[in-house]
Amino acid sequence: MSDSDQIFRYQDDRDRRKTRRPLSWQILSIAVIGTLGFFVFLAVMLSESKDRADLLKDIRDTRYPVQASLLSALNQLETIDNNLEHAFISSNGALLDHSMILAAQFRGQLHQVMMLERSNAIEINTILAAFDKYFSDSHALAQSTISGQRDFSDTTLIKQANARTFNDLMESLGTLQTDHSESLVASVDSATQRASDALRVGLTTGVLTAVLLFLVAFITTRSILQRINNMVRSLRQIAVSDGDMNVRIPLTGSDEMTELAFWFNTFLEKLQRMTAESTAEVKRLAFTDTLTNLPNRRMFLRCLNSEIERLDTLQNSTLAVLFLDLDNFKPVNDQLGHDAGDELIRIVAQRLVHTVRGEDTVSVNSDLSEPVPGQPVVARLAGDEFMMIISELKNQQQAANIAERIRMAIMEPYVINGMECAVGVSIGICLYPDNSDDAEELITGADMAMYQAKNSGKNTYRFFDPALRTATEHKVQMDNAIKKAIPNGELHLMFQPQFNLSNGKLVGAEALLRWENPELGVFSPNDFIKQAEANGQICELDDWVMKSVLDHLLMWENKGIKPIPIALNFSAAQASRPSLALAVSRIAGTHKHLLSSIEIEITETSAIDNIAVVENNIQALKAMDMKIAMDDFGAGHSSLTLLTRCDIDTLKIDKAVTREIRTDRKCRSIVQAIIDLATELEVATVAEGIEDEAQAHALAEMNCDLGQGYYYSKPLRAAEFARYLERHRDGIDKAA
Ligand code: C2E
Ligand code: MG
Ligand code: MG
Repeated sequence: MSDSDQIFRYQDDRDRRKTRRPLSWQILSIAVIGTLGFFVFLAVMLSESKDRADLLKDIRDTRYPVQASLLSALNQLETIDNNLEHAFISSNGALLDHSMILAAQFRGQLHQVMMLERSNAIEINTILAAFDKYFSDSHALAQSTISGQRDFSDTTLIKQANARTFNDLMESLGTLQTDHSESLVASVDSATQRASDALRVGLTTGVLTAVLLFLVAFITTRSILQRINNMVRSLRQIAVSDGDMNVRIPLTGSDEMTELAFWFNTFLEKLQRMTAESTAEVKRLAFTDTLTNLPNRRMFLRCLNSEIERLDTLQNSTLAVLFLDLDNFKPVNDQLGHDAGDELIRIVAQRLVHTVRGEDTVSVNSDLSEPVPGQPVVARLAGDEFMMIISELKNQQQAANIAERIRMAIMEPYVINGMECAVGVSIGICLYPDNSDDAEELITGADMAMYQAKNSGKNTYRFFDPALRTATEHKVQMDNAIKKAIPNGELHLMFQPQFNLSNGKLVGAEALLRWENPELGVFSPNDFIKQAEANGQICELDDWVMKSVLDHLLMWENKGIKPIPIALNFSAAQASRPSLALAVSRIAGTHKHLLSSIEIEITETSAIDNIAVVENNIQALKAMDMKIAMDDFGAGHSSLTLLTRCDIDTLKIDKAVTREIRTDRKCRSIVQAIIDLATELEVATVAEGIEDEAQAHALAEMNCDLGQGYYYSKPLRAAEFARYLERHRDGIDKAA
C-alpha cells in the first residue's frame, strides 16, 4: 500500500472514530443507570414515608382527638339529658347542678372539635346553638318543677319539644361522629396504602434498575467478549494453520472493540504483505544467482526434474545437460581483479543466454519456482561453472552443435575496463534418457564429461562416457575410505634401508606409507596421495607419518638400538604449509631430540607455488636439527630453484634416471652431472631404485654417496626392519 493510501485510510479511520459510539459510553451508562435508579428509589421512598408520616401525625393530632371529643360529647349529652330528666322527675337540684357542669364540658368538647377541625365550625356552632336552647329549656323546666312554680299544663308540650331537640342534637352529633370516624378510618387506610405503595414503587424501581443494568452490562460484556473471542480465534487460526493470514475479523459496530479489530485487521494485512514480500525475496535469493541473475543450482535442479517429468510423457525426445567450466578464468581474475572477473562472468552469462535463447538480457522468470516447459535453462553453479538444459532435441548431433556454438561465443574476446582478454570453455554433455533419467546423475555425468574435456586439452566438449561413472564412483569410494584410514588404524609404515655405496654399509632408511583397507586392498602412496591432496587430507597423513616415525625411533631407542637416520616424505601441501614448524614441534612433543635423526624429503612439483613459504619451512626444520633432501631429482618438475635458494643436505636421484644408467648414455651423463653439482654444493647424493649390482657399481664409481633399491632391500614392515637393524647393527656406517 502506498503512503497516500495509508493516509487516506487513516483519515477514514478518523471519521470512523468521530462517528463511533464508544464502548466507554456504554460502560458509563451502566454507572448512570445504576445511580439514577438508586436516586429514584430513594426519592420515592422518602416522599412516600413523608406522606405517611404526615398522615399519621394528622391522625394522632386531629382525627383521633376529634373522634374522642365527639364520642365524649355524645356521652355527655346523654348524661345531661338523663340528669335533667331525673332532676325533673325527682326534683333533685344536685342533678341539675351536675348537668350544668356536664353542659360546660360538652361545650368544651365541641369547641375543641371546632378548633381541631375548622371545617366543622358551622355545623358545631349550629349544634351548640341547638344545645344551648335544649339545655336552657330542659334546665328551666326542671328548675321550675323543683321550685314548684311550674304550670303543668304546658309541661308535656315543652318536654316533647325538648325531646325532639335532644334527638336532633344526638343525630347531628352522631352524624358528625360517624363522618369523623369514617375520615379516621380513611386516613389510617390511606397511611397503610401509602406504605404498601412505597414498597411497591421501591421494589419496581429496584427491579427495573437491576434489569436495565443487567441488560446494558450483558450487551456490553457480550459484545466485548464476542470480539475478543473473534480475535483469539483468528490468532489461533494463524498460529495453527502455518500462518494463513487471510483471516479477518468482521467489523461490526463502531466502538473501541471495532477499532481494535480494525487495527488488528490492518496489522494482519501489513504483516501479510511484508511476509509475501520477504517470501518472494527469499524465493528469489533461494533460486537465483545474485551475480548473473541466472537460476542457481537449486532452481536448475527443479527445472531439470520438471522437464524430465514432462519428457517422460513424450516419445523420442532427448534432453541434454551441459556442464560448462571456463578455461583460463583464474589468470584473468588474478590479473585484472575480482571485479573484472565478476564482469566477465556476467558477460559470459549473457552470451550463453543469447546463444541458446536468442535473448540479450539475462532475465529469469518472475516466478522462479515455476519452470517454463521446453525452454532452454541457463544456470550458474559457482565461480566459473555454468549449467544448461537443452530440451526436446532430435539427436545427439544437435547437442554437439549447440556446444560448438557456445564454445565459439565464449571464445570471442572480452573488453573489460579497457583491457582485452579471452577465455575458453570446457563443456561436458550428458543425455536423457540415454545416459540417465535421474537429474542428479545427469548433472554429475555432465560434470565428469566436462573433466574429460579439460583433460583433452580444454576448450572443447565431450559427451558422457559410462565408463567415467565407474571410475568416479571408485574415486568417491576411495575418498570416503581415505578419510577413515587414520581413525580405523589402516595405515602403517614400510622402511627401505639405505646403504653407503662405497662400503655397502647400512646408513639409514626411508619411511614409506602404506594404506591397507580391508575392502579395497593395499595401496602405495602413488595410488592415493593425489586424492588425499585433492581432498585436503594430505597434511593429516604426513603428520601421521612423522608421528609414527618418531614413535618407531623412540621404540628402537628404548630397545637399545642406536638411532638411525630415517627419511620421510613431505607432500607439496605439507612443505608449503604456513604453520609447518609449529605442527612438527607439536608432534615431536617431548622427544625433540629424535628430530636430528629425521630427514625430510621434498619433491619439487608444480604444486609448490609459494617457494618463499617452502624456503621458510626448510629453514625452520633445519633449525630443529632436521635434514632436508630433494626427492626425485632429475625427473618431473625438478629445477634448480629449491637447490639454490634452500639449504639442502641431500639430493635424491630419481629412480627413472638410475634405471637407465647402464643402457642410456644420456642418463649416465645426467646422473654424473647431478653428482658433480652436489659435490660442488657439498650436498650428499642418494640414488634410488637400484635394482642390480651393476647399477650399484656404476653409481659408486660415479661417486654417488648412498643408494637404496630392491637390490639391497625392498621396503620392510617395521618389525622386520627392526630385526634387519639388529642384524646390521655392527655394519652401520659410523660415518653416516
Ligand atoms: P619416493 O619417495 O621416490 O619413494 C621411492 C619409491 O620407489 C617407493 O615407492 C619405493 O617403494 C619405490 N622403490 C624403492 N626401491 C625401488 C626399486 O628398486 N625399484 C622400483 N621400481 N621402485 C623402488 P612407494 O613406496 O610406492 O612410494 C611412492 C612415492 O610416494 C614416494 O616416492 C613418495 O614420493 C611418495 N610417498 C611415499 N611415502 C610417502 C609419505 O609418507 N608421504 C608422502 N607425502 N608421500 C609419500
Ligand atoms: Mg622419497
Ligand atoms: Mg623418490
